[in-house]
Amino acid sequence: MTYDANNIFAKILRGEIPSHKIYEDEHTLAFMDVMPQVDGHCLVVPKSGSRNLLDADPEVLAHVIAVTQKMARAALKAFNADGVQIRQYNETAAGQTVFHLHFHILPVLEGQIIKPHSGKMADHIALAKQAEALRAAL
Ligand code: AMP
Repeated sequence: MTYDANNIFAKILRGEIPSHKIYEDEHTLAFMDVMPQVDGHCLVVPKSGSRNLLDADPEVLAHVIAVTQKMARAALKAFNADGVQIRQYNETAAGQTVFHLHFHILPVLEGQIIKPHSGKMADHIALAKQAEALRAAL
């Protein structure tokens, strides 16, 4: 299994396709998931290429998990959530659909039903507003 630099997140990182960006630093980018499972569902990706957790450099993982924590705290605050789920899939059998390492951040309300993974495309105006709320909560 090798890394393919033509995956959609690599294209987002290169600015070849648009995204609703929330946070960026030297090593990582956070942006909205276009098929959110809850309001505020966002993703954190490293700028360096690896398929998933299995082939990632531990130093890269350290940066990504620190930003995931930062985004989880912002998501909890911005969406008045009661908890935050962090999801991460490795290879097709485990549900991975985009082969560039990423962590899903889902702010969850008590009793909330979480929509299916890779379900329906969200309205872009709503995603832009949610990205703005997350940026304000950072
Ligand atoms: P995974 O199954 O963990 O690989 O998840 C990939 C995620 O990327 C899914 O939740 C998709 O909704 C999301 N996704 C796919 N294309 C895009 C895109 N262009 N921008 C933002 N999120 C995307």
